[in-house]
Amino acid sequence: MLKPLNRIVQKLGVKTLYYLFIAVNLIPSLFLVFTEPYNMPGKVALLLFPIGVLLILLSLLKRAGLVKLFLLPLFFFHAFQLVVFSLFKEDVVAVDMFLNLTTTNASEANELLSSILAPTILACLIYIVTIILVIAEFRARKYYTKSFLKTNLIVGFILTVVSFTLFPVSKDYNTEEFDLHTNIYPINVLYNMGFAINKMGKIIDYSKTSGNFSFQASRDASKSENDIYILVVGETSRADNWGIYGYERQTTPNLSNDSNLIVFRDALTQSNTTHKSVSIILSPASAQNYDQIYSQKGILAAFDEAGFETIFLSNQARNSSFIEYFGDQAHHTEYYRDNESTKNHYDEVLLERIKYYVDAANKPTFIVVHTYGSHFNYGERYPSEFAKFQPDHFSAIEVANRDRMVNAYDNSILYTDHILHEITTILNQSNKSSAMLYLSDHGEDIMDDRRNRFLHASPNPTYYQLRIPFIVWFSPKYQNTHTQKVELVKANKNKPVSSNMVFPTLLDIANIETPFLEKDLSLANSAFTLQERMYLDDHDDPIHYTKTNLKEEDKAMLLKRRISKY
Ligand SMILES: [Zn+2]
Repeated sequence: MLKPLNRIVQKLGVKTLYYLFIAVNLIPSLFLVFTEPYNMPGKVALLLFPIGVLLILLSLLKRAGLVKLFLLPLFFFHAFQLVVFSLFKEDVVAVDMFLNLTTTNASEANELLSSILAPTILACLIYIVTIILVIAEFRARKYYTKSFLKTNLIVGFILTVVSFTLFPVSKDYNTEEFDLHTNIYPINVLYNMGFAINKMGKIIDYSKTSGNFSFQASRDASKSENDIYILVVGETSRADNWGIYGYERQTTPNLSNDSNLIVFRDALTQSNTTHKSVSIILSPASAQNYDQIYSQKGILAAFDEAGFETIFLSNQARNSSFIEYFGDQAHHTEYYRDNESTKNHYDEVLLERIKYYVDAANKPTFIVVHTYGSHFNYGERYPSEFAKFQPDHFSAIEVANRDRMVNAYDNSILYTDHILHEITTILNQSNKSSAMLYLSDHGEDIMDDRRNRFLHASPNPTYYQLRIPFIVWFSPKYQNTHTQKVELVKANKNKPVSSNMVFPTLLDIANIETPFLEKDLSLANSAFTLQERMYLDDHDDPIHYTKTNLKEEDKAMLLKRRISKY
């Protein structure tokens, strides 16, 4: 094994290997030149900077291969970056992708990775061959000549200086800015990793930083009537595939016939990732003030303070995020999916538990239900009797299979319609004053246009990831006793709404009072005012949803579906 490798090193020579190493490191940058929305100086800087720095670093030590050994960890980022390319066709590894490495459960990762196997293997192959060559070169004890190193050092220095002088005239058309830590690979990816580690630390410290928090929530005792409120958080369900949202297929036959339902036709999420979106849904935090999440508690704690029995039922796995922390603030917390077993439960596993708690309720009760909804792999989300749209089996994620993928996805919506109908049936049968609010955490791309984008949680959202179903259901009894609130919710149904409105709206519906209820955000309040709809970006800053690098295809859909610019 070693001898042939030595021969390859001899034959190529240390100088060729020197430049080959730089070339291999430039593969991601070459992709980015084509994908990133930079002006010409920005694109030039994107290439010159890594070339310059690599020339300098590789010229620091005479022994061939030694500096390269220290730089090998970069290959982890390159491989990760190439996987991101094959998934999203643009962008660098984001903060959320580093966090998802720790929050995504094993079966989820397998589902994902198997669908992008070919490009992943190719990328890994290139880097593995390079790693072997670097080790062989180091063991061969070869040395660069002084003049070779000196020339490259000078060239490297000049290229680095030139790239820095380009910065002031460089521009990222998205942000209208340009700087090293957001625009130059791999500096931006290293920065994102640092950001992710820092954020992970804050998440781990959450119990300490939020321990003394109180909503100071209360409720008028005269309004306590053993009422029941259920918040259902959907997964990866996009409004465009819902019958009640105008889809040509009838995927929501039950909800379409429910006169107690109020449909918000123009609803957007504040994040396209589960852990951020659901955290916002379950708390007073929003894109506008996301950092307050570290010092506050969630919606279950607010209902608890107001005297409610609180229950959190989840068909997702625990993932050490705020979803888990907020869920644990309930009196009863139950999970039906775990990281160890690959056992797949349909969302109906939650129904009998909901029925149990509704039937047992002898005081005001609040239930949060976290479903698995339409999460990939779609075909595994519904039992066979809901496989109405056929064929729904596909082995590979490719354009040729798009119709089958959409069939499976639509079947999962059909099943969601059934689940929601069953929940309202349970509430109806209880004969209590009750309400249910359902929304999805984000949408999904299913190769909808020539971009052939797939899944969600990409660094930049698309129209299909942003637009979500958002519905409110009131029992006849609630409608009789809260005419005004129901009328207010109805009056707002065509207004532009956002996922951060769930917290104030639900508290308002349940007559809970707390200084943390922002009435202008409550859809059940006369103080409700139209809000600029913000999106939580990768560095946890708010940006208006129209500034999220939406493409022509997205803008066309926003126009077609008459989504407000608010
Ligand atoms: Zn999700």
